[in-house]
Amino acid sequence: MSVKVLKFGGSSLADAEHFRKVAAIVKSEPDRRYVVASAPGKRNSDDEKVTDMLYKCYELTREDQDIDNIFFCIKRRYDKIINDLGLDLSLDKEFQRIKMAILHHAGRDYIASRGEYLNAIVLANYLGFDFVDAEKGIFFCDDGTFDAEKTNSVLSKILEKHEYAVIPGFYGSMPNGTIKTFTRGGSDFTGSVVARAARADLYENWTDVSGFLMADPRLVKNPKVIETITYKELRELAYMGATVLHEDAIFPVRAAGIPINIKNTNRPADKGTMIVKETDIPASKDVITGIAGKKGFSTIILEKDMMNGELGFGRRVLDVLMNNRILFEHIPSSIDTLSVVVSTDDIKDKKLIVAEEIKKAVHPDYISIDDGIALIAVVGRDMVSSIGTAYRIFKGVAEAGVNIRMIDQGSSELNIIIGVEEKDYEAAIQGIYNEFVR
Ligand code: ASP
Repeated sequence: MSVKVLKFGGSSLADAEHFRKVAAIVKSEPDRRYVVASAPGKRNSDDEKVTDMLYKCYELTREDQDIDNIFFCIKRRYDKIINDLGLDLSLDKEFQRIKMAILHHAGRDYIASRGEYLNAIVLANYLGFDFVDAEKGIFFCDDGTFDAEKTNSVLSKILEKHEYAVIPGFYGSMPNGTIKTFTRGGSDFTGSVVARAARADLYENWTDVSGFLMADPRLVKNPKVIETITYKELRELAYMGATVLHEDAIFPVRAAGIPINIKNTNRPADKGTMIVKETDIPASKDVITGIAGKKGFSTIILEKDMMNGELGFGRRVLDVLMNNRILFEHIPSSIDTLSVVVSTDDIKDKKLIVAEEIKKAVHPDYISIDDGIALIAVVGRDMVSSIGTAYRIFKGVAEAGVNIRMIDQGSSELNIIIGVEEKDYEAAIQGIYNEFVR
């Protein structure tokens, strides 16, 4: 029998109605064996995530304020799910224990982690699966980094003893036994870790959208869903701001060659997006896989006659950035000009000093540091074999009436990145999408 690991996000486990959908999904295939649960998320746009309420509890105790009200609201959310599902389960003892721990100044991560802990107990009870506490099988090192090898060996052995189990997402334990969480949205990472330990054939990540979209739906009307995407393409798009999955979540499964399927709990028949290591499937008839972008970049522009013959020019410029702890994104250059694109947030308080140090290091004829650049990445594994992709990007942008300020094609030909003025960002993305897809 093949093994599937499923992770359900907070919106998929926000109330009893969603628990019923989750159970129908899990029970529809016997190889759906390990389920990773998030804490209850928002039931509507005005609602609060349980995790946020738990962080508030922690803040209140730090300020020596009363937590009774908020604690009651949290308990009521779980009790309502339990009652609506008609379960023979009480979390009263758990809540007493957690309240005691909070009053005795339990750590922030311990408090935040209780959202997934309690939800996993409820889900395990409802599904008739075993409950496996993440603190027993997911580990961190002393320095707070994730201990991949210990986790994999211990968790594999634990899972072998449970044919069907629910595991809370988001946390694990430190060598001294205290609880530590991953960064926000970290249940995606737990799902990936469990998939690796279970030697799963597939990691299904269930959420409230039917997969990755080719472009941001706030900018492009009804963008197409990406059916298949490689890990590398996903990383390019995620780096440029496309989000659905926690950014670290691909690493454990990628190492083990396990594909991820992003699925929609509210529309389980939709195919969603498959994330794979490699594929022969063309990205789409559209050549590109997706478009993503971000505002908030600045360009350091340098000009100097005969720059091309000056050994070490680029290195000295980058040394200045390194000494000022500024990461660079791109370095487009021509014979006598060099530009370095950096994040505006990184450079904004250091502009004067960076300009002074660059002047001292390379004596440019001209230097300026301009803000207001947006970067747009057009990503696609098929670009390498399609002639005319760059032409079509320029055509789409030109037809949108936008001037391109910078161009960079990655040497793997997986992406072409253009820089435009921030005011042109939306129009440029729409122009590119229209050129390739519409
Ligand atoms: N509940 C946590 C959060 O809200 C972790 C997760 O849902 O993945 O960030």
